[in-house]
Order: sequence, then structure tokens, then C-alpha cells
Amino acid sequence: LIKTKETRWSLLKASPIYTDKGTIEYAVNVISDTTAQKRFEASLKFAAEASKVISSSLDRESILQQLTDLAVLEFADWCAVDIVEDGKITLKALANKDVKKIKLARNIRLFYRPDLYDRCGIGKVIATGKIKHYRNFELKKLEKIESKKLRSMLKRIGFTSIIIVPVIIKRKVIGSITFATERYKHKFSKHDLQIAQQLALQLAASLENAQLYEDVNNEKKRLDNLVSNVPGVVWETYPSPDKGEQKISFVNSYVEKLLGYSTKKWLGTNFWINIVHPEDRKKVVREVSEIFKIGKGVIRFRWIAKDKKVLSVEAQSQVIVDGSGKPLGMRWVATDITEREEMERRKDEFVNIVSHELRTPLTSLNIYSKILQDTLNPEEKEKSNIYFENMIKQVKRLNKLVKQILNVSSVSTGSIKLNSNYFSLDKLIRNNIDGNKRLNDRKIVMKGKTSKKVWGDKDYVCQVVDNLLENAVKYSPRSSEIVVKLRSGADSAVVSVKDHGFGIAKQYHKTVFERFGRVYDQVDRTYPGLGMGLYISREIIKKHGGNMWLKSESGKGSTFYFSIPYNKIN
Ligand code: ADP
Repeated sequence: LIKTKETRWSLLKASPIYTDKGTIEYAVNVISDTTAQKRFEASLKFAAEASKVISSSLDRESILQQLTDLAVLEFADWCAVDIVEDGKITLKALANKDVKKIKLARNIRLFYRPDLYDRCGIGKVIATGKIKHYRNFELKKLEKIESKKLRSMLKRIGFTSIIIVPVIIKRKVIGSITFATERYKHKFSKHDLQIAQQLALQLAASLENAQLYEDVNNEKKRLDNLVSNVPGVVWETYPSPDKGEQKISFVNSYVEKLLGYSTKKWLGTNFWINIVHPEDRKKVVREVSEIFKIGKGVIRFRWIAKDKKVLSVEAQSQVIVDGSGKPLGMRWVATDITEREEMERRKDEFVNIVSHELRTPLTSLNIYSKILQDTLNPEEKEKSNIYFENMIKQVKRLNKLVKQILNVSSVSTGSIKLNSNYFSLDKLIRNNIDGNKRLNDRKIVMKGKTSKKVWGDKDYVCQVVDNLLENAVKYSPRSSEIVVKLRSGADSAVVSVKDHGFGIAKQYHKTVFERFGRVYDQVDRTYPGLGMGLYISREIIKKHGGNMWLKSESGKGSTFYFSIPYNKIN
């Protein structure tokens, strides 16, 4: 302790001086002041330890407390961190070598509340973002403080030197770190100042990380919460199917409710495939790789729950990609459609029965009206023939409708039975055009031909061609020509029917092939129809192993295509 009452370190080197006889006569003592060296080492050590603490955790509160605790080991006597919260400066961490003094310091902070309008101290540093270094803190300065109590408390501590550094994130001051030494301890040097600045930078980076981490975590919690309340099974699999065996990395808790298996059972395996009904498994595996190629899709299959109950589900999938579009995995959402399927089945059954029941009286009605027409004498005939003709026409229409409804239900239940043979498509179409009276007022041009016969059910294919030609006429009332083209593909014959009518906007290209799918923007042109023809036609073609598609734009006519394989498809 020297005159200034400052603590200083010294190194004493004593060297003995020997007499001729070899005995020690006296010693030469050299004392050197090593305070600066010692300080330097201590502050370096603190800097190293502090950066370890700052980067070791993402928990804000614990970082701050650990940092202040570390600072008071050798670097300073006091250390405090203040953070701005809702516009107010709040003390977040405080440390002193002497634990008893912490209470005193907290008491001080009850009287001294820094705010952003202060003309000095913590408030000023945070408001301006400029570091403050009171190398020799003059106790005189405290005289300006109004509160007597605060003044006396501060005097009791007797600060020697103070550094206040701002903590800045993205140009915004979010708080400050204060280091202080007490009575008789050393004064902070320029080197200490640099260390304090460096720490503030590191702390800012770490707090920013902690904030990001907290944001991400909150967002994750929110999503988890949301996903766990979705009434469907949501899961993710990695890697993408072309990169090897897939494993589930996430599944929501609804899976336990629906299938009885815990989420643990799913994670790290490809469990969702294992519990697919054995009859559906091959189809599912094939469809998964198809969806993967397209990017998204929907599949239907059956799952076997833990209690052996069979559930029908509809699963939507989306391929997960990275920033550059490279596929990483797949995300799935499956909903239970067991009840819906059962309802659909019952509805189909009902429609089937009703339409069957309707056919018998309709057939009788048709026959009896013809007989009645024949029994009329010529005079009566002249008077009422037109009514009879109309009646028979309407009965025919009704018959056709009933046939369509019957077709829909047998297509939906998959009970269509093909009576297949080899036949010439060219001939079938020619006969169809010539024999269809409703097409008489239209010019129908037939182009191209097929080289081989196709394998299929003539009646059903005829029904498809009929439907396409009737649509072409129906939906192109102002244009006359319809072109039917035949062409030979590699494995199948392709037929197209082109009209110059209303055309179909892109958004309806898929739905027109669905049950009851119709276009609703054909303004002021209401055409009778149930939206079943194309659905039935496509199902018939699919049953043959072929395909049906269309090219069209609104207002520019439509071309419908279908293909029929030459040979029987297994
Ligand atoms: P329907 O004609 O009885 O309504 P379809 O299944 O045959 O049923 O056709 C479905 C829908 O597709 C039709 O309602 C119509 O809106 C549209 N469509 C079909 N063919 C054509 C066509 N050639 N041009 C324009 N729209 C068509």
C-alpha cells in the first residue's frame, strides 16, 4: 500500500553477496513494480474465460450472471449488466467479490435508476452508444447527487475507476456493462478499456444469437402446438426416396389417438409403410416414388391400427426441398376417411339399387307407348302422333340418364366387367359417326388411321367415342367442323376429337374428369348435363389400360384424346 493508497504488486529479487571464505555477507534486493504486468495477465485471463462463457450458452440470464461473476474474480470489484426493456433500463446481473456488498449495491439501485435522459453514467452511455471511462473517479463528483442517502452509500463504497461500455446489436444500443474498482484498488488502463469493448461486442453477438434461438424455439413450440392439434397424422421422412431408406424424423401426437402406436415407435424407422395393409403396400410404395418425381400428390390406402382395426386414409404429400430446389425428404398429412368411404359405398349401393329399379318400369313404359301408338287408327294417329313421338323421346332420355347413373356407380365401385376382343377402332368410329343421328347437322372429318386392332370392349369404347362427339357438338354450338384423328402410337392407338367451341380454362382440366365435374364459367350458356360423361369415359379407358387427357384454352376450342393399348394389359 503506497502513499496513494492504491494496491500495487512488486517483485522482490534478493541476491546473496559472498565473502572470500564463502559465507554470505549481505544481500542485494531489487524490487520492481509488476502491477502493470500482473494486471495485463489478469485481464487477458478474464477476457479468455469470459469469451468461453459468452459462447457456451444460449440462455441469456445465465450468460449475464456468469459474465459478471467472472469479472469480479480479478478484473474488477464490481460488475453490472443493464438491459433496456420496454424503454426502461433494468439491472439484469450484478456481482461483487464480497457477497455482502451485493445487497448494498441493490439498495443503491433502488435510489439510482439510470434513465435515457441522464446527463452522465449508464443512462448517457446507453442513450449515446459511447463508451465512458472514469479512470480516476473523483468522489467529489458525488456531491452533485441530491439524495443524501445515495450519496452516503456511494461514498461508503468509494469507487476508484469505472468503465461503462454500451452493448450494441445492429446499431441499436440494447444495454451496457459496467466495471468498477473500489477504494485503493487499481485504475482501469487503456488495455482494460479495449478488453471491455471487445467483451461488449461478443456479448452483443451472443445475445443476438440467444434472441434468434428463442424466436426459433417459440416459433417451433407454436407450430408443434398447432400440428399436434390437427386432426390428422402429420409426419416427415428423410432422406428423399432416391437416396436410400427413408426414416421418420417427425410425427405429431395425433398418431397415438388414431392408430394406438406411440410417436417413439415411428421415429427413426419407416413405420408408416410397415403398418399399411399388405394388399395396399406395393401400390403405396409405387405411388410414393411417383409423388416424389412430381413434387406432390395424394394417395389412398388402408392402415392397420394397433388394435388390428383397418382404417382407410387419404394422405397428401409434398416433397421437402432445400433453397436450391434439391429434394431432401417428404412431408405427409393423412386423414381418416373410413367413415366417408363407408358413406360413399352406401350411397353408391343406394344409387345402384334405385337405378336398377327404375329401368324395369321405363322399359315397360317404352314398350307400351309403342304398342299404344300402333293401335291408333290413321285419323287418331295424325292427331296424336307428335305427342307419342315426344313421349318416346323423353322415355329414351330418361333411359339414358338412368344408364349413366348406373355406369357411375359401377365405375365407382370398380365393378365394370369388360367383354374384350380385338377390334378395329377405325371401323368403330366410322360406324359411330354414320349411325349417330344427332351429329347429322355437323361436318365431321375423320383423319388418319390406326395400323393395328386394339384389345377391348367394343360397347364401352363406343360409349366413350359417343360421349366425346356429343360433347364436341354440345359445347360448340356456333362452329361446325369437328375433326376426329386416329394415329398409331408405340403400344397403343390414339384418338383425338377436336372442336372449335367454348374451350375449357386450365383450372378445369382436372375437374372435368371428376364425378359431377362441370365448367361453371360458360356464361349464359346453360347446357343440360350431370358432369358424369367424362368421368365414366376416363374410368372405362383406364380399365382398358389406356389414358385420357385434353388440350384446351378458354374460347379456343378443345381437343380430347384417349389411347387404347393394342394388346391385353395385365
Ligand atoms: P356433361 O356434359 O354431362 O356435363 P361431361 O362429363 O361429359 O358431362 O363433361 C363435363 C364438363 O366438361 C361439361 O359440363 C362441360 O362443362 C365440359 N366439357 C366437356 N366437353 C367439352 C368440350 N368439348 N368443350 C367445352 N367444354 C366441355
